[in-house]
Amino acid sequence: AIDLRTIEKRFGPDAVLKGIDLSIRPGEFLSLVGMSGCGKSTLLRIIAGLERPDRGTVAIGGAEVTDVDPSDRNLAMVFQSYALYPHMSVRDNIATPLRMRRLSMPARLPVVGRLFGASGVRTAITQDVARAAGLLQIGHLLDRKPAQLSGGQRQRVALARALVRSPAAFLMDEPLSNLDAKLRAHMREELVSLHRRLGATFVYVTHDQIEALTMSDRIALMSEGRIEQLGTPDELYRQPATLTVARFIGAPS
Ligand code: ATP
Ligand code: MG
Repeated sequence: AIDLRTIEKRFGPDAVLKGIDLSIRPGEFLSLVGMSGCGKSTLLRIIAGLERPDRGTVAIGGAEVTDVDPSDRNLAMVFQSYALYPHMSVRDNIATPLRMRRLSMPARLPVVGRLFGASGVRTAITQDVARAAGLLQIGHLLDRKPAQLSGGQRQRVALARALVRSPAAFLMDEPLSNLDAKLRAHMREELVSLHRRLGATFVYVTHDQIEALTMSDRIALMSEGRIEQLGTPDELYRQPATLTVARFIGAPS
């Protein structure tokens, strides 16, 4: 579970998050929705550790991580602009987080080296890359460069790179907003299917209510730095708690 307690954040004079309490269940698909500027990305960045709250705590799996570095939280972040390394093959793009992890843990390397040998480490990376590429159905694209891929294929490479380390949770900030409508609809289904197969927790930021209603187990609707309503898509649709919720859920995207 990811537990947020009384999270507050201000940027200069502006209170952007005004006391957020939210418990995200293990394995659920939770969408964070709301109008532009309501604080969705800020909240996601606080969960990721890219931003520190002014007040409140973040706990992952029961352990408080409020002051823990992003790289030590075992989370994967997928942004709207999924920057791939243009000079690297798809294979190397996906493998990069695994290689970075090895570099950041030099103390462990001699042990791994003694147990498996350097080639054993390479084999493990190759297998992890193949598994991630298989899940996203891009195994046939591993030797290409990003410039030789379609938008949807690039999106899959970014997702494969995010899941290659088997993170406990995926934090996604409008990951489909750069795709055209048809591809977006397709990728929505792919993400839901991926969520089912991985069993990982997905926290999904979108300002698109159709996306939230069709993909999520639960939706947290934010307004001006607060959570206005938390519930299943059915609950928000049938029993909006406030006019803000009713307007947002009912408005065309
Ligand atoms: P959108 O749907 O447009 O992405 P959002 O809900 O993700 O919006 P945030 O990015 O969390 O909104 O921003 C919330 C508020 O905080 C906005 O008013 C924004 O201008 C402000 N803000 C965000 N980051 C910073 C920053 N680094 N410095 C100052 N203000 C910021
Ligand atoms: Mg945002």
